[in-house]
Amino acid sequence: MITTAQFYHHFLENPTVSTDTRNITPGCIFFALKGDHFNANEFAAQALEKGASFVVIDEEIYAINEKCLLVEDVLTALQNLARYHREQLNIPVIGLTGSNGKTTSKELVNAVLTERFKTFATFGNLNNHIGVPLSILSITHDVEIAVIEMGANHQKEIELLCSIAQPTHGIITNVGMAHLDGFGGFEGVKKGKAELYAYLKENNGYTFINRDNAHLMEMSATSGLNKLIYYGTENGNTIKGNLKSSDPFIEVEWTNHDVSSVVKTNLTGSYNFENILAAICIGDFFDMNPEEINIGLANYQPKNNRSQLTKTDHNTVICDFYNANPSSMTAALNNIAVLSADKKSAILGDMFELGPESNLQHEKIAKQAFDSGLNQLILIGKYFYALKDQFDALFFETPAEAAAYIQQNPIENHLVLLKGSRGMKLESLLQYL
Ligand code: ATP
Ligand code: MG
Repeated sequence: MITTAQFYHHFLENPTVSTDTRNITPGCIFFALKGDHFNANEFAAQALEKGASFVVIDEEIYAINEKCLLVEDVLTALQNLARYHREQLNIPVIGLTGSNGKTTSKELVNAVLTERFKTFATFGNLNNHIGVPLSILSITHDVEIAVIEMGANHQKEIELLCSIAQPTHGIITNVGMAHLDGFGGFEGVKKGKAELYAYLKENNGYTFINRDNAHLMEMSATSGLNKLIYYGTENGNTIKGNLKSSDPFIEVEWTNHDVSSVVKTNLTGSYNFENILAAICIGDFFDMNPEEINIGLANYQPKNNRSQLTKTDHNTVICDFYNANPSSMTAALNNIAVLSADKKSAILGDMFELGPESNLQHEKIAKQAFDSGLNQLILIGKYFYALKDQFDALFFETPAEAAAYIQQNPIENHLVLLKGSRGMKLESLLQYL
């Protein structure tokens, strides 16, 4: 069996990695991962035919030639290679986790840091036990600073991701009602996310923390963190900010070292205030001046169906259908409540991965939405549908049924919030709005 150091030698000569035969680029190293419904060992020969320089497999029967590197376990080999690569990179790595706003904050931090540094940031949402190693392996030797998104839906996952990415700096955006099922309730979410703080404490890293967030403050105290950099709305923080405007785009006034400035962003949703402040705090920590920071933030255009305001032929739609959980639903409903528009609607889809709390959490969100004074409320999915006798709203079991209704009863000149879990695929409704 090949050692990680030998393997790294191959990687230096062939520094691209693939785990999907549809994305093989000539010369890449193909990792034959296994999933619940597939065994990529079976595609090893195909990957070589498509031009992979090596394939990494863990079943000897698929070893057809010397380009097949046999390892004990392919996933572990991928993670070990990433860990080894990380150790060769002498750069700051910012580890970023939280229940909501990870990708948005990661993009904002990247937008800021890129104004000064050669920055690498996780592509898209590649934030799990496979995505983080792939991200780390994409960091080239000219990169000066990296921002790595870390996602988790169960305990010990952040600990594993930290052991791979080895962050020197870290931030938990917030803790909320997400992945309650896997974490075992809200206290479980806090425990799981705090694994980042534990890593930073042990490795003498710096932590950026939102002082307005009592949960994060409690978690940081429990973790015994001491290299803390605070941001928030109060005096005494390194970065103090306030939300100047949020209708519809977020404008933040912020101060550091007695210098104040205002930045106008292209993001909608007042919950993005804390994401923006986090990016400012990190830029400032790395000695960037307010002009650079504000240019980076002002130029960032959301393009990923997160907090994206889109004008359609008939309506203005808050495209926030990338994902949903109770915390982000509440934030999105609070946001639409304060935006100016003659008529407002919400089209909400079910929230997944809430385990035994599912019914209760859907009921709470339905109630909040119902009490928001919207002109129209459409609730879609089996969890919402179960509440159809409790609220005076339109209920559909599937997006297709909702689409049929909207086609018959068009929504026009509304501000529409469109949000649900990824699996609800609410983007299919956009064409009817
Ligand atoms: P994932 O777990 O899918 O990786 P994420 O944590 O990366 O999600 P984003 O993709 O940045 O989160 O944002 C998803 C949605 O969460 C946004 O569209 C918005 O509705 C909501 N959101 C973003 N930031 C916050 C925040 N600070 N507080 C509450 N909700 C937020
Ligand atoms: Mg994300």
